[in-house]
Amino acid sequence: MKNLAKNFLIFFLVFVVIIYAFSFFTNKGQQPETVGIQAMIDQINQGQVSSVTINGDTLNIKLANGKEEAVQKESGETFSNLVKNFGVDTSKLQKVDVQVKENSGLDLLMSTILPFLIPFLLISVFIYFMMRSVQGANNRALTFGQSQAREFGQEKGEVVTFKDVAGAKEAKEELKEVVEFLRHPKKFQELGARIPRGVLLLGSPGTGKTLLARAVAGEAQVPFFHMSGSEFVEMFVGVGASRVRDLFKRAKKSAPCIIFIDEIDAVGRKRGAGLGGSHDEREQTLNQILVEMDGFDPNTNVIVMAATNRPDVLDPALLRPGRFDRRVILDEPDLADREAILKVHARKKPLAKDVSLRRVAERTPGFSGADLANLLNEAAILTARRNKKIIEMSELFEAIEKVMLGPERRSRVLTDEEKKITAYHEAGHALVAHNLPHTDPVQKISIIARGQAGGYTLKLPLEDRHMHTKTEYLEEIAVLVAGYVTEKETFGDVTTGATSDLRRATRLARKLVTDFGMSENLGPRTFGEKEEMIFLGREIHEQRDYSEKVAEQIDQEISSFINNAVKKAREIVEKQKAKMEEVVAALMQKETLEKEEFEEIVGKKIGKNDGPGIEIAGV
Ligand code: ADP
Ligand code: MG
Ligand code: ZN
Repeated sequence: MKNLAKNFLIFFLVFVVIIYAFSFFTNKGQQPETVGIQAMIDQINQGQVSSVTINGDTLNIKLANGKEEAVQKESGETFSNLVKNFGVDTSKLQKVDVQVKENSGLDLLMSTILPFLIPFLLISVFIYFMMRSVQGANNRALTFGQSQAREFGQEKGEVVTFKDVAGAKEAKEELKEVVEFLRHPKKFQELGARIPRGVLLLGSPGTGKTLLARAVAGEAQVPFFHMSGSEFVEMFVGVGASRVRDLFKRAKKSAPCIIFIDEIDAVGRKRGAGLGGSHDEREQTLNQILVEMDGFDPNTNVIVMAATNRPDVLDPALLRPGRFDRRVILDEPDLADREAILKVHARKKPLAKDVSLRRVAERTPGFSGADLANLLNEAAILTARRNKKIIEMSELFEAIEKVMLGPERRSRVLTDEEKKITAYHEAGHALVAHNLPHTDPVQKISIIARGQAGGYTLKLPLEDRHMHTKTEYLEEIAVLVAGYVTEKETFGDVTTGATSDLRRATRLARKLVTDFGMSENLGPRTFGEKEEMIFLGREIHEQRDYSEKVAEQIDQEISSFINNAVKKAREIVEKQKAKMEEVVAALMQKETLEKEEFEEIVGKKIGKNDGPGIEIAGV
């Protein structure tokens, strides 16, 4: 709209200029006074006229006193005829110097061509500007097939180096080699070594894949073409492939360089697995990537990096040698890594002297790099909101919970009845967790709503664990159903508050049976093939590889796991009735209990102090 107005203005200005120029040409300076034919005849008869110049249909008259006049005659009528008809005095006329002036080229143009030309010109100008206003769209259409990769040269933006990536030692080690390739390709070529073409970064979201790719470019000091897999996919078939071609062309021109395709699973899914048109487009795009990667001259110093968190869905063709044959795995950060990541992100933040990032790291198992960066940011925001100048431990701890569970929702007012139910429910989770030997110690109990949960009990493992036993899982299920059991035991009724607990318990029980092969009755086998399929935008996961009869047995097993857990939880809840009342009273009064306050009531936790990862049991 704005463009159109602007174009219209320009059009208008051009119009004015043309009109002005036109009038300028025709005027040619001072215009003599125009008089009528009869007046001219009278002047001739009186002998006042010294000369008449016939200029087309205009008669320019020069008077004896030096004055000039102009007379318009009828076109086609000759001067002599005209004066005769008006009855001029012939003797007087003879004294007048009559000249016929040949129309000059310019005059001819003015008088004959221009009147036709002007509208034509105006129309062309108008059309030109109309075209211009749609040109923007045209331009876009023309560049549609070009890649929109962003290029990060080393001068633009801030350079990321390996120093900015904490932890991930193995990954960095692998990638240092890539940096070497980019920096000193000769060294490797002389030995006949084939420079790797593709490096695939694998890791869950937020583990620093994108960051690491940029760091490689920063270390090698080469251009970095960044494009996301989804950017290849457009509505029209063939666009993605054309973009791929364009991207590789650009990259080859500025070799040595890195092409980084983020979230490659958007285009690199297994081919031929889906239905519908969008899939054809993806396949073509993927094919083009494969073709381009194969088409590289071995000495072209372009390395293609790609990142995904779904290696399982990638097309096998992407993974064969000569393509993404190097795989770099980014694990979830462990305790030391978490501390290091926190340190990197705390560099520009003022921390109080007593802040121990180690303790923050201890409290954040399962956090990814992105979560940790977010945590420090939240802590800084909290500090600013409290008008403090330095970030202290309390803000950091609060930020942990905020990142983990969402913001506190103090505005959600519970009635006294609801509060009481929530307190019993959470106390149930906490007490059962406390009294089972293989669960994680309780860190915090709260009946303040947070995120989705009405209240929560936070348990944290003491160390990072990668393996878990069946016993741990069974105890975990008992903790999950403990809220439900307590409500039932105390009030003889249950609320909707236990819904998500029960869903999680059921899901975990199903996993034990179908994925982990931990059911005695069904034996050590898994059930269901996890198959990726896109159907109407939804991923259908499971493919049954077992019979109806077995399905029934699986259901029975799940139910028996849950029932046993309920039985176990009920035993503890019944035995701990007195403690339960104390915890509930404390919760009703303070709303949150920290680990120390909780242990003051129930004593130190017995048994082994770790369990299956971080578990939060919401109401
Ligand atoms: P993804 O693996 O999903 O691509 P990113 O690379 O985008 O993750 O990471 C998101 C953010 O998390 C980064 O911008 C960075 O701030 C932080 N981050 C992740 N891993 C690390 C790490 N190892 N060291 C420092 N910061 C990290
Ligand atoms: Mg990423
Ligand atoms: Zn619960």
